[in-house]
Amino acid sequence: MKTVRLFKPSVGKEEIDAIQEVFDISWLGLGEKVAAFEKAWSEYLGCKESVGLNSGTAALHLALASYKFARGKKVLVPALTFVSTAAAPLYCGLDPIFVDVNPDTLQIDPRDLAIKYTPDCVAIMVVHFGGHPAPMPEIMEFARKKELKVIEDCAHTQGGRLHGIPLGLWGDIGCFSFEEKKGMTTGDGGMACSNKSENLELLKPMRWVGIDKDTWKRSQAYTQAGLQDRHWYYEIAELGYKYNMNNLAAAIGLAQLKKLPQFNASKRNAISRYLHNLSKVPGFRPLLPYSLDEHASYWLFGIKTQKRDALIQYLKTNGIATGVHYTPLTMQPLFQNHAESTPQATKVYDEILTLPLHPELTDEEIDYVCAKIQQFGML
Ligand SMILES: *Cc1c(COP(=O)(O)O)cnc(C)c1O
Repeated sequence: MKTVRLFKPSVGKEEIDAIQEVFDISWLGLGEKVAAFEKAWSEYLGCKESVGLNSGTAALHLALASYKFARGKKVLVPALTFVSTAAAPLYCGLDPIFVDVNPDTLQIDPRDLAIKYTPDCVAIMVVHFGGHPAPMPEIMEFARKKELKVIEDCAHTQGGRLHGIPLGLWGDIGCFSFEEKKGMTTGDGGMACSNKSENLELLKPMRWVGIDKDTWKRSQAYTQAGLQDRHWYYEIAELGYKYNMNNLAAAIGLAQLKKLPQFNASKRNAISRYLHNLSKVPGFRPLLPYSLDEHASYWLFGIKTQKRDALIQYLKTNGIATGVHYTPLTMQPLFQNHAESTPQATKVYDEILTLPLHPELTDEEIDYVCAKIQQFGML
């Protein structure tokens, strides 16, 4: 039987060659490839500075930790997101306060944001859910008025923009994920970005167990006599983590970044083919209000249907992988003490279905998925 994957990293010879280069220089950890990838990523996004990390989760954690908020303060988090967005406040001893989503866009709802806000709140974690831009102008206006830091969780978008401004650069720190299922990959990896270098200053020691200098830079002085007498000396002023990106991941990232515009374009084409095909199915509702301009960088394609669970079974028997992104975090046991009311997220959860989308998805596969949905009947 034909099978269609839900996600698939697109990797090839370029990535293998990049890894070979790292083997040749024989420096596999934090090193010059990481610095090169940070520079290339900053140029791609159009930001001043980026810090390479070993995951998007690490980026979210360090972004929040670097502000050193008093324990017990509150952080506003959308209910419909991956666990890491809400784990970051918990890692810092902060309380996630769940905000409902707009059922049409699945993005954090600015009206509920204002309702859930209390003077104990110190930050907002904004998620560009599925790669669709969150309503940043409203969120930023509210955040500035209330003096809240804004951390953008950009795990679902790499290069998307809103009103010409790259997603990840609206707020204080933008956090990206290069996990294997995301828009481009380094195996595992993440990046924290900002247009203000001071926003990222603490992230550098904090990603490297608190050490204020990079070992690979010091190592160059080990053998350069007279340049620096105490090349081995470093200071630890921060409690840090072992969250650095390594040269192997960065080398893969450099190769992937060259392909990223193609990846985004290929997914835009796939989404427009889906939308065209599915417009013939009675009751068809897209998961997101897709807007496929030249910068659009979507991660999820999907639909909303009241027959979600039956359709999942039907597609499964036809070899088509599907997913549900996500169970609202307010419904998870971990957050039962944080269960604010988010009725829209709970309601829309029963209807959301993620369909296959990745850069190598073929027109035939899309047509096959759509034909099976059409055979299933009304949505
Ligand atoms: C994947 C994801 C993350 C975490 O990224 P990792 O690189 O896997 O740690 C964070 N937030 C969202 C919304 C994600 O989808």
